[in-house]
Amino acid sequence: MDKNYLYQAVEEKAPVITGLSDKIWEYAELSMMEAKSAAEYIAVLKAEGFRVQENLCGISTAFSGSFGCGKPVIGFLGEFDALSGLSQAAGVSQPQPLTEGGCGHGCGHNLLGAGALGAAIAVKKAIEAGHLHGTVVFYGCPGEEGCAGKTFMARDGMFRDLDAALTWHPGDTNEITIGSNAASIQMEYRFSGNAAHAADDPWNGRSALDAAELMNVGVQFLREHMRPKESVHYSFSDAGGISPNVVQPTATLIYMIRGETVRTAKALARRVDDIAKGAALMTGTAVTSHQIDGTANTLSNSILEQLLHDNLTTAPLPEYTQEEILFARRMKATFASSSLPGLLSNEDPRLRKLVIQKTEHGRKAINDFVFPYVPSYKFSPGSTDVGDVSWLTPTAQFTAVTWPSGCPGHSWQIVSCGKTALAHKGTLLAAKVLAGAAADLMENPSLLAQVRDEFEITAADGYDCPIGPEVVPVIG
Ligand SMILES: [Zn+2]
Ligand SMILES: [Zn+2]
Repeated sequence: MDKNYLYQAVEEKAPVITGLSDKIWEYAELSMMEAKSAAEYIAVLKAEGFRVQENLCGISTAFSGSFGCGKPVIGFLGEFDALSGLSQAAGVSQPQPLTEGGCGHGCGHNLLGAGALGAAIAVKKAIEAGHLHGTVVFYGCPGEEGCAGKTFMARDGMFRDLDAALTWHPGDTNEITIGSNAASIQMEYRFSGNAAHAADDPWNGRSALDAAELMNVGVQFLREHMRPKESVHYSFSDAGGISPNVVQPTATLIYMIRGETVRTAKALARRVDDIAKGAALMTGTAVTSHQIDGTANTLSNSILEQLLHDNLTTAPLPEYTQEEILFARRMKATFASSSLPGLLSNEDPRLRKLVIQKTEHGRKAINDFVFPYVPSYKFSPGSTDVGDVSWLTPTAQFTAVTWPSGCPGHSWQIVSCGKTALAHKGTLLAAKVLAGAAADLMENPSLLAQVRDEFEITAADGYDCPIGPEVVPVIG
C-alpha cells in the first residue's frame, strides 16, 4: 500500500497522539501506579474503536487494544511510566522543578506510548478501509522503569500469539536498536537481628546492619570471579534506624544482578544468595530473600531491524524551525559532555568517521538524519523487559529523535523536552515508521516468514522466564 496513506493517518491524528503524550507527561505516574495514564489510553483506544482488554495478568494498569481479525497479528508495545525526583518545567533550559521531589518523564515514556498508539491507530484505519488485512494490537505495558511489567505479562501468557512485535524509544538519534541487553534478576535481602544499647550491652545485640555491610563486602570480592558482561549493583532500602547508639535490628538491601542470559543471571543470583547467608551466619542474624522482578536478554531479529530501517529512511524526517534549533542548542549547553551519539552501536571505524562527520564532530544540536544500519552483535549492559517479549515473538525497536544530541538519560533535560515540538515531531515520525513496518509485514507473507525463520533459530532454546510463579509485581 501507499505509505503516504499511513503517514497522512498519523498526521490527521496528531492532536490526539501529542495531546495524549502531553497528558501523560502531566500525570508523571511511577511504575505500576499509572492509573490516570492507563485510563487516558483506554479512553482513546475505545474512542478509536479498538477492542479493549483491561487488568491484564491481574495488573490494573496493563491493558491491550486490538482491531481487525485473523493473521497476521502485529503488536505495538507502549510504555507510560515516569521516574521519581525528576519534576521539571517543560521547555526551559535550566533545572526548574514543578514540585520539589516530584516525578517526571525522564525517559520520555509519555512519548513512547503515544507514538506506538499512533501507529496502531494508523494501521487500524488502513484495516478499516480494506487496505490491510490482519490484526493490530496495542499493548499498554506498565512499570518498565521499576518493575519489568512486560516480564509479568510474558510469564502470564501475553505476546505469544503475535506474529511480530515492534516498538521504539525516544532518543537523540534516528537509529535501529541492535544487539542484546543483559538479563537481570532483582532481589531483596532482609536481615533481622536484635536491638541493644550500642554502648551499655552491645554483646546482647545482633546487628542486621553489620550483616548487610558484610554481605556487600562479600559481593565486592565476588566481582573478581564473575564472567565478563555480568554486573551487580545494590542499594539500601533500610539501614536500620538513624540512631548510632542502637545496634540496628533490621537492614534491607536490594540487589540488581545481571548476566548475559537468564541462565547466567540466575546462577549469579544464587551465588549472591550464598553470600547473604554467610553474612547472616557471621553476625548471628537471620536473612530472608525474595525476588522482586527480572528481565530476559533481548533477542535481535535482523530481518525486522532491516524492515524498520527501511521504513525509517522512507518516512519523511521532521524539519526543525530556527527556534527549535536554538532551544536545542541552549539545552545542549547544559549537558555535562558532548558525547557522540550512536557510537556505542556503531563501533566500525568507518561508521564512526561517518557519524562524526554527520554530527559535525558531535556539535550538532539535533541529529536530523538516519544513522546507518549495520547488523552486528552488540551487548548493552543495561536491561529491558522488551527482552522478554523478544523470546516470545520476533521483536525489533528503534530510536527516534525527540531531544537534542548528547542529552543524558533519566535527566531533567529529557523532562523539559517532553512537551516540545521536537519531542512531538519525533513521536509522529516513530508512529509513521512503526505503522509502515507493520503494513509491510501484513502485505508480504514471505517477509514475515523470513522474520519467523530467523526467530525460530535465535529463540530455539525457548523462553527461560526470569521470574517464578511466586513473584508478584511490586506496586509503586
Ligand atoms: Zn528509562
Ligand atoms: Zn525508557
